[in-house]
Amino acid sequence: ELTFSKDISVEIKIVEPYPERPTNAHKGLLGKALFISGSSFYTGAPYFNALSFLKSGGGISFLATTENVSRIVSQRSPEIVQIPLKENMQGAIAKENIEKILEFSKNVDIVAIGSGLSVDDDTEQLVLDVVDKVEKPLIIDGDAITIIARHKEVLKKRKFDTVLTPHMGEFSRLTGVSIDEIKKDKFSALFMAMEEIPHTIVLKGEYTLIGSKGNIYINTSGNPVLGTAGSGDVLVGTIASCIVRKANTVEGTILGAYIHGLSGDLLAKEFREGLTAEDILQNIPNAIRYYWM
Ligand code: AMP
Ligand code: MG
Repeated sequence: ELTFSKDISVEIKIVEPYPERPTNAHKGLLGKALFISGSSFYTGAPYFNALSFLKSGGGISFLATTENVSRIVSQRSPEIVQIPLKENMQGAIAKENIEKILEFSKNVDIVAIGSGLSVDDDTEQLVLDVVDKVEKPLIIDGDAITIIARHKEVLKKRKFDTVLTPHMGEFSRLTGVSIDEIKKDKFSALFMAMEEIPHTIVLKGEYTLIGSKGNIYINTSGNPVLGTAGSGDVLVGTIASCIVRKANTVEGTILGAYIHGLSGDLLAKEFREGLTAEDILQNIPNAIRYYWM
C-alpha cells in the first residue's frame, strides 16, 4: 500500500529497452562491470551480482572478492572473471588490495560495491576510497551503504554518477529516519534523503521508489516472491547492465528495477512459494524478452 501526505503530480514514464544487440556485438562492446562484493559469510551475493550482469545483457563481469569466495563463485559460474584478493582475519577483503582495485576500476564501464561485503575496518577503508576515487558510474549496495551512512561527507562530495540501493533498514541507517516513520510516508522520507544526498536513491521494497534529481519514479513491477535472500544482489547486476547498455544512469536504474521485478512477476504466475534468488536470476532473459514484446 502506498501512502503520502503531500500533493504530488503523477506522470507515466515508460523506459524503452536497450537497443538491439548489434550484429557486430562482442563482449567488450556490451559493457564491462566490476563488482566488489562478498566475504566469508556471504558467498552468494558476489555470484548473484556478477552473473545477473551477464544474464541481463552485460558483456564482461569482473569480480573482486576474497580468494576463498572467488574459488566458490568460479565453481558455480565460470562465466565470471575472477580477481581473487587476499583475505583479512575477519574473512573480508584485506585493505592492502585497495590500490589494485582502484587501478582495475579504470578498465571498466561501471563499478558496484557492497553486496555481502562486511563492515570491518579494512572494508570501511575500501568503501571510502572507492566512493572517493572511482571515476566511473558507481552502485553502492548493502554493507557499503551501512558504512557510507557514517561518512556522508564522502558521499556528498562525489562528482560521478552514483546509485544507492538501500532496503528500508539500510535507508533508515542512511538517513537516521526510523523504519516506522519511513513506512508512514516513503515519499517524504525519500524527498528528504534526496535533499541531503545528491545521487540516485533506490528505496527498495513493495513499490520500489527511485529518487533522482528532484523526481520520484514508482516501479510498478514486483511482488512478495522477490523478498528472498540474494534478491537485492540480483538487482545490483541487473541495474548495472541496464546503465551500461543504455548509457544513462537514471533510465538504466529505472529499467533494471523494472526487469528485476518483472522476472519475479512472471515466476509468480506459476509458483507461489519456494522461489530463490537463483530463480529470479535465471528468469531475467525471459523478463527481457517479455518486456520487448
Ligand atoms: P534485498 O533486501 O537487498 O535482498 O532486496 C530485496 C529486493 O526484493 C528488492 O529489489 C526489493 O524491492 C524486492 N522485494 C522485496 N520484498 C518485496 C515485496 N514484498 N514486493 C515487491 N518487491 C519486493
Ligand atoms: Mg541487499
